[in-house]
Amino acid sequence: MQLKHAALVLVDISGYTQFLRKRNLTLLHAEEIITQLLEVVIDAAEYPLTLNKLEGDAAFLYALMNDDHEKVAKDILKQTLAFFPAFEQKIAELDQDTAYCDCDACSNISQLKLKAFLHHGEVVIKQIRQFEELAGEEVILIHRLLKNGVKADEYILMSDAFVELTGGIPDLKREKRKEKYGDDSVEVEVFYPKPQIPPLVLQSYTPRKANMFGAQIKRLLAHSLGKHKSFKHISHGKIKIFAYFREMMG
Ligand SMILES: [Zn+2]
Repeated sequence: MQLKHAALVLVDISGYTQFLRKRNLTLLHAEEIITQLLEVVIDAAEYPLTLNKLEGDAAFLYALMNDDHEKVAKDILKQTLAFFPAFEQKIAELDQDTAYCDCDACSNISQLKLKAFLHHGEVVIKQIRQFEELAGEEVILIHRLLKNGVKADEYILMSDAFVELTGGIPDLKREKRKEKYGDDSVEVEVFYPKPQIPPLVLQSYTPRKANMFGAQIKRLLAHSLGKHKSFKHISHGKIKIFAYFREMMG
């Protein structure tokens, strides 16, 4: 049994409602989907960040912080941030792969969201055969944080201790909170990812498409008002802007 200082990371997938869990076929598919999503997150983790164990819809990871606590914490934060795009990409893949199935699990993949919890402190490491069991108050604390008053379904929640080491995530909207657990309370800070622009909107606007649209408008104006009238004085740039807004409004 050893006492070590470690960074602790819990990732949790939520989004499937309780009712869904009670149906058999759906349950099998739900388990498969959650497993694949957890795997993609775990695969994205690099040394010193190591998987300790899977806990249902969550995975518990840790990294020993031998000398430079700040450096390790910043690395772990960077890795945790990279979990989110990996997760998103897997969601899109799974959504396509399961298009054939209309069960509740497969049709609600896009509802699944990722949460990450970060903390650090002294932990007890017990070696049980080939497994390392992490124990201690800090391990209990990070698990407690899973239950909290945050209303959003996608975020990174850090203990104040972890924010102190890393400075948090400068680009993101942040919220200081005090989570209560019985008589204890824990100071945390929550970081919310920026709202994603739906990919369809991004893809539907391409300069080429806008150029095409601009040319169409010019042709249409020329056609309806007579060929002798030229609309060359309307700059292509203005037409492009018009085309862009038309695209945005669908
Ligand atoms: Zn299914």
